[in-house]
Amino acid sequence: MKCPICRKPVEWDAPEFPFCSERCRLIDLGNWASGRYVIPGPPATPEPGEKAGDGNDGE
Ligand SMILES: [Zn+2]
Repeated sequence: MKCPICRKPVEWDAPEFPFCSERCRLIDLGNWASGRYVIPGPPATPEPGEKAGDGNDGE
């Protein structure tokens, strides 16, 4: 088994298995956490011009 972060061989009975060390475990955790903030697709921002609410309506 190799550490998914640094590719170093890891023993099955390693305390931080499957990572070689706590450091690599935290790095992986950080990668996973930051990945949650990546939203696939366009951002949900309102289109400019869709809301003309400044007396632009002359009816
Ligand atoms: Zn590692």
